Amino acid sequence: MSDYDVIVIGSGAGGGTLAHRLASTGKRVLLLERGDWLAREPENWSASAVFVENRYVSADTWYDGRGKPFQPQVHYFVGGATKLYGAALYRLRAEDFGELAHHDGISPAWPIGYDEMEPYYTEAEQMYHVHGARGEDPTEPPASAPYPFPALVHEPRIQQLSDDLAAAGFQPFHAPCGVMRDDANPPFSVCVRCSTCDGFPCLVHAKSDAEVLGVRPALEYPNVTLVTGARAVRLETDAAGKTVTGVVAEHDGGTETFRGDIVVVSCGAANSAALLLASATDRHPDGLANGSGQLGRNYMFHNSQAVLALSRDENATVFQKTLGLNDFYFRGPDVDYPLGNIQMVGKSTAPMYRGEKPLETKLAPTWSLDQVARHAVDFWLSTEDLPRPDNRVTLRPDGSIALSYTATNDVPAQKLYEQLRSVLGHLDLHHHLIPRHAYLKNAIPVAGCAHQAGTCRFGTNPADSVLDVDCRAHEVDNLYVVDTSFFPSIGAVNPALTAMANALRVGDRIAERLGATVRKAAIA
Ligand SMILES: Cc1cc2nc3c(=O)[nH]c(=O)nc-3n(C[C@H](O)[C@H](O)[C@H](O)COP(=O)(O)OP(=O)(O)OC[C@H]3O[C@@H](n4cnc5c(N)ncnc54)[C@H](O)[C@@H]3O)c2cc1C
Ligand code: SF4
Repeated sequence: MSDYDVIVIGSGAGGGTLAHRLASTGKRVLLLERGDWLAREPENWSASAVFVENRYVSADTWYDGRGKPFQPQVHYFVGGATKLYGAALYRLRAEDFGELAHHDGISPAWPIGYDEMEPYYTEAEQMYHVHGARGEDPTEPPASAPYPFPALVHEPRIQQLSDDLAAAGFQPFHAPCGVMRDDANPPFSVCVRCSTCDGFPCLVHAKSDAEVLGVRPALEYPNVTLVTGARAVRLETDAAGKTVTGVVAEHDGGTETFRGDIVVVSCGAANSAALLLASATDRHPDGLANGSGQLGRNYMFHNSQAVLALSRDENATVFQKTLGLNDFYFRGPDVDYPLGNIQMVGKSTAPMYRGEKPLETKLAPTWSLDQVARHAVDFWLSTEDLPRPDNRVTLRPDGSIALSYTATNDVPAQKLYEQLRSVLGHLDLHHHLIPRHAYLKNAIPVAGCAHQAGTCRFGTNPADSVLDVDCRAHEVDNLYVVDTSFFPSIGAVNPALTAMANALRVGDRIAERLGATVRKAAIA
């Protein structure tokens, strides 16, 4: 008998949510996490520590398609990237589950429809305390329940932006947001609506991240064990190559092998592909479960742009991420292909601009960076990038990650930027609109891999997908993947809620397989 019923590798949006789902089954769950608990310290909320010193970014070196080294924006902690995320928790649109024609080609259909995911989106919104208002976003998919918490109130400058947009004929909406905030009763609210949320850890544990709402409650069950500082380096398989028999991990300065009946990989899209590629055997010469040749391929991370508009009046907003605009999600005013999603990002501050040459050169000497920060209204634009086989993760001879990526849908991304420019031209926010590198701090775009997805896509056909519809490897009976790797396409909204919802769905399949029952009410 194995030591564990299920081993989950990685404790982020996928793995942390899955561990939570399986906790109430009574099955023995081991969560292996390469990182440690993220320290609660004053630096959590220091823009210099977070954005200039990269205090919470891993020291990894990856290599781009030309072999140039870069530091990827990945975060190895209990809770994974959700410790730093902006907690904009969007559902994919129902249409994103079907085939969609884009400027640069087809965004492929998912093997399951939106209907199948919908109940899990609802549960994930409840688990992750999502605030929002149904009926405002013209592209929102049908939902079986209201948001569990009311929309976060816009601060005055953002309310004005919303009113101005509506007056100009657009349909701004309250963005879905995962923070434990009670706007109706601020003295009793855990979340204090600070300016250091998006891209920062939450010092007071009020952000709906996978540590606080996934791992910690899961650990209250005696059958769940977490081992931190355990980096899985290889999966061992039986002679037939059909079953994972051991997870080999670097731990405590040595190497240890953990054994479980079911093994779930959830290391983030690049690292999950790397782990499976590193687990090649005679039976799986191109990487574990890679008979299709698709493992590591179809890497996506959105064609994103951070832009900053300067408001004539100072923008005193503290918590800015409350507004979204999907008017151009499926088409532009003059084109019949999708452009993408527009949302706010965390309010920028002067230290974040350090090293951003476009800002200094475009505005100097009339504006100091402090002045820019006081007037900045910050937007995040996401255009869907398409899955391309050549956009892929491979391993270099020394085992390090190589990430080849060529952008797709540059034309719609540019059009989305122009639309924002034109929209803001109608408002009082127009005389400067400046591209920023907020999340793309290094010069190499691939380093900004916050929204990475797609390296182990799921599908019905083993010839062109790595996982089946339950996110189980076609070729290895007890191997699952539940991070964003399974995405066959990424849509143009933020990916975390979809990873969380899918982890709940896969958790139910694994519980069924183990003959166990998930006690949902107990978890809630
Ligand atoms: C700054 C920032 C802002 C973001 N904002 C948003 C947002 O507003 N909305 C949104 O939806 N998404 C956002 N995202 C993206 C979101 O955080 C990710 O999509 C999501 O966390 C992905 O979940 P995952 O399970 O695939 O990977 P992760 O959450 O990254 O989890 C992977 C885990 O695996 C661990 N791990 C890796 N390799 C190994 C190994 N070999 N052995 C053991 N453990 C391993 C890692 O340490 C990590 O804990 C943001 C991301 C960042 C970085
Ligand atoms: S805004 Fe709320 S959730 Fe975000 S970091 Fe501040 S206190 Fe935490």
